[in-house]
Amino acid sequence: MKVDLRPLFTADTGAIPLDLTFDLSGLDVSGGYPLCEPVRFTGGVYNRAGVVTLEGEISAVYSAPCDRCGKETNAPVCCHVTYVLTEAMAGEERDDYWVVPDRVLDMDEVVLTELFPALPSKHLCSPDCKGLCPVCGADRNVADCGCSDRKDNPFADALANFFD
Ligand SMILES: [Zn+2]
Ligand SMILES: [Zn+2]
Repeated sequence: MKVDLRPLFTADTGAIPLDLTFDLSGLDVSGGYPLCEPVRFTGGVYNRAGVVTLEGEISAVYSAPCDRCGKETNAPVCCHVTYVLTEAMAGEERDDYWVVPDRVLDMDEVVLTELFPALPSKHLCSPDCKGLCPVCGADRNVADCGCSDRKDNPFADALANFFD
């Protein structure tokens, strides 16, 4: 999605409000498609006395199976975006500057650049998800299968040693 900034750059002040949605449902993130809901950007481009900035919020929903138990889990992802828009980088490269050489802002690029690092590297259905039993595969959040108990039981160990 391109935003034409030419009218804004030629004036001294002004604003272009933005409320955009992006379909990233086909975006492959480590083998899955976690952004099945539309990603939204709300904010705008502002010219304050010749300084042009992009400011806003990206909001998305990250839908993927829980890392421990595999239950389909949604997590909101939000990130704040602030860039000074410039036609050319003067001197050193700065990561708070975004270059728009032709005065056209590619919002798809902004959203992808900002959203990727904000996606959760750890995705759990709840912070204390107990996961699946490595012995029998039961979901330990639902029921205690007892496998780990047997392993921790000194009597079971003694019994196992006796039959060795
Ligand atoms: Zn879980
Ligand atoms: Zn078990």
